[in-house]
Amino acid sequence: MAAKDYNPYKTAQDQFDRVAGMLDLDQATRDLLRNSLREHHFSIPVQMDDGGKKVFRGFRVLHNDARGPGKGGIRFHPQETIDTVRALAMWMTWKCAVVDIPLGGGKGGVICDPHNLSLREQELLCRGWVRQLARNVGPFSDVPAPDVMTNAQHMLWMLDEYETIHGARYPGFITGKPVGMGGSLGRTEATGYGLIFTVREALKEMGIKPEGTVASVQGFGNVAQYAIELFTRIGGEVLCVSCWDQEKQQAFTYKKQDGIDLGELFPITDSFGSINQEKARELGYEALPGGAWLEQEVDILIPAALENEINAENVNKISKRVKLIAEGANGPTTIEADEGIKEKGIFLIPDFLANAGGVTCSYFEQVQSNMNYYWEKDEVLGKLDIKMTAAFMATSEMAKKNKLYMRDAAYVIAIDRVARASQNRGWV
Ligand code: GLU
Repeated sequence: MAAKDYNPYKTAQDQFDRVAGMLDLDQATRDLLRNSLREHHFSIPVQMDDGGKKVFRGFRVLHNDARGPGKGGIRFHPQETIDTVRALAMWMTWKCAVVDIPLGGGKGGVICDPHNLSLREQELLCRGWVRQLARNVGPFSDVPAPDVMTNAQHMLWMLDEYETIHGARYPGFITGKPVGMGGSLGRTEATGYGLIFTVREALKEMGIKPEGTVASVQGFGNVAQYAIELFTRIGGEVLCVSCWDQEKQQAFTYKKQDGIDLGELFPITDSFGSINQEKARELGYEALPGGAWLEQEVDILIPAALENEINAENVNKISKRVKLIAEGANGPTTIEADEGIKEKGIFLIPDFLANAGGVTCSYFEQVQSNMNYYWEKDEVLGKLDIKMTAAFMATSEMAKKNKLYMRDAAYVIAIDRVARASQNRGWV
């Protein structure tokens, strides 16, 4: 399916419908959970540096808040659509439920390419987003965070705008803030580290030592970078990494036979995760086509970029050596590709479990912000490890006991929790 025809919301709803059938949910519960609870669509006018005005389109979707305030990031992306935001909001609900944190699911987005915006324009966009939503989001209703192409500075501008409007300090309004400004130590590392905690557990279960295992990674943003760092620290090697090239407007895979070196790549990568190709070549990296990351002879594939990256067209190109796929991105695999992965007998750690480290640490950040007392980094990462390991083990036990694909097992746990919370509240 061509990228332009792919609709992640359809994938999210189809995945939900399958598991709702397995759980035998009643019609009202299905109607509630397969749709968003609330949606906001709005315009954000920004005075650009050239003096002209530009109007951006923004969204915030609350999928479900039966288990606690909505939680989820804000994406800045030129191809953002309301259906992408709806799907991502729904996946946030399942994500918070599977790791058993008392939060619901939400997501926000702005159609924009921050590569083309000055810092001043980005600040105005962040403040404009909050201005449109100041009464519909908040520390006890819906709590935003960073996501694709948004960062700690964006969160701080948003917090400042929210606090200015409401006339008091509400550090629990938003997470992913800079450390020292209400942010939690470990939050930057949390999604990537959390992913590797689940990889470590999966390898243990498969009887494979991490030392000497080889991975291929798609994406080189926040999630991928910290995943690579921890994976190499536990003894693994990363053969290649694929990323978007802003200048050439296409993706490339950078490969080094004896493994990529973060120390070499960091200084030649921009803040959005694009590696400078000329400099990479000078350092001895081969620049292969963007899709090559998926076709490598490796043990582990880590898609940590965007949705629809493993699909019916490329699933058969996955090498026979691959034993494990750990989804760092949200929704990287289509339903058709899931069938191919099952046939190949590859163990899958599904996105909303594998990448739940980010929101779990966001929850810790909220707790710290609300009590205005901050933990040491070791304490944060230790708590994160306990949560991720417990969620992985519960999912894998459910999968083994009921002979389920890992994605279905995670869905059964999450949907059951959210359905019961919605029913216990008397909503359905
Ligand atoms: N954007 C991250 C995610 O998709 C984190 C969300 C959060 O921390 O609220 O899980």
